[in-house]
Amino acid sequence: MQKIMVCVKRVVDYNVRVRVKPDGSGVMLDGVKMSVNPFDEIALEEALRIKERAGGAEVVAVSVGVADTQQQLRTALAMGADRAILVQTDAPVEPLAAARAFLALARKENPDIVFLGKQAIDDDANQTGQMLAALWDRPQATYASKVEILGNKAAVTREVDTGLETIEVDLPAVITVDLRLNEPRYVKLPDIMKAKKKPLDTVTPEALGIDLGQMLKVVKTDPPAQRQKGIMVKDVAELVDVLKKKGLIR
Ligand code: AMP
Repeated sequence: MQKIMVCVKRVVDYNVRVRVKPDGSGVMLDGVKMSVNPFDEIALEEALRIKERAGGAEVVAVSVGVADTQQQLRTALAMGADRAILVQTDAPVEPLAAARAFLALARKENPDIVFLGKQAIDDDANQTGQMLAALWDRPQATYASKVEILGNKAAVTREVDTGLETIEVDLPAVITVDLRLNEPRYVKLPDIMKAKKKPLDTVTPEALGIDLGQMLKVVKTDPPAQRQKGIMVKDVAELVDVLKKKGLIR
């Protein structure tokens, strides 16, 4: 195990109540707290644990996005990544574009594993890892809840509908991680200070020879339907009565 690449996306923090722009063209991002996509923290934690168990390996955090994505890459460096690369663009980045950028980086960096989150909590696409594996022509293991490195293979336990499935993939491979894989470590203040000195390179898509393109158009964004105010009932009999009147029970 020489090198592990981890894809880290900048997303609206999961604690923020997302608000839709009045014209429905998207969600408001001005002044909103942005964070590392929670699944990507799990992906990074797993990479760091593999590195620690193996007694070494380089962990490279990568991202595609606006210049401010450096903040999330610094968080990744503070967690323990050795260096970071930002493919900087102001254009919207859809999953295929991100996968193209990661393919270019994978070809340059030759990692043994590329870790991604199973999905980004902003677009909920669940596509980037699968697209990268196809473009890179390497095996993929999605929804990982356990990862074990066995020489030049990885045994990955996956959360599937029927329970847990364990598969073996040849490395290099793409692994996307699920919620129960691990609990990411907290970043300590000295680590934040140390992270400031770690290398963070910025490249343009053009320098990587890729066109991020755009194939999707968001037609409209709607907020979720407003919840109706509840009513108080005095006892179970009244509750049953109300439910019957609403046609919810017979
Ligand atoms: P998605 O396919 O958009 O649900 O994203 C799945 C995973 O791909 C995320 O959890 C990230 O690990 C990675 N990813 C997607 N887009 C980006 C991006 N622009 N920058 C960094 N990582 C990304």
